[in-house]
Amino acid sequence: YIFGKKKATEVAHLVWRHVLHKGDIVIDATCGNGYDTVAMLKMVADESGHGRVYGIDIQTEALENTSSLLDETVTQKEKELVKLFPICHSRMDEVLPENTAVRLVAFNLGYLPGGDKGIITTSKTTLLALEASKKMLILGGLISLVVYVGHPGGREELETVEAFASGLCVDGWICCKFQMLNRPLAPVLVFIFKR
Ligand code: SAM
Repeated sequence: YIFGKKKATEVAHLVWRHVLHKGDIVIDATCGNGYDTVAMLKMVADESGHGRVYGIDIQTEALENTSSLLDETVTQKEKELVKLFPICHSRMDEVLPENTAVRLVAFNLGYLPGGDKGIITTSKTTLLALEASKKMLILGGLISLVVYVGHPGGREELETVEAFASGLCVDGWICCKFQMLNRPLAPVLVFIFKR
């Protein structure tokens, strides 16, 4: 099971590592159990208290899990760099300070592992969140998506993400997809780099 759910996110983390710098501002648009939040926090938090992670999830249960994982895995000083918001990610621009310069917006779509499978990302709100992300991203920034296709609606959501990325102007954006050709149900990674 080389490229299961966990491995897909690890591949995403490898890419983040090449894009992020200490002191960066980043958004985890789907906090879930907090693993991505912790990974990106480690990449941006610096000694002098710079770097920030805005974490978003529509479920308070997910943000509680994220908060607990932070308590277990990072210092209190690092945790203070994280701000959590229990909202739909399509509204991210409402909670972030105006003109925030964001280096990474990361999406890990689908439902909360171990949680309510009925609370799930949808094509409509994912697209709105992508539009919002696009506006906040700095040059050299990245929108990273892990898209699951094994559940009802997953394939449609991937098509929405692909259509969004395919429509971005080639001079300003580099859009690519990482997909397991011999495992049709494996999660698909989409990376959208702002040049
Ligand atoms: N990144 C997480 C981690 O490392 O554990 C896993 C994320 S999980 C696959 C997807 C999350 O998206 C769930 O926690 C779910 O509550 C959240 N979600 C679903 N719809 C959402 C929406 N419209 N806005 C924000 N979060 C949403």
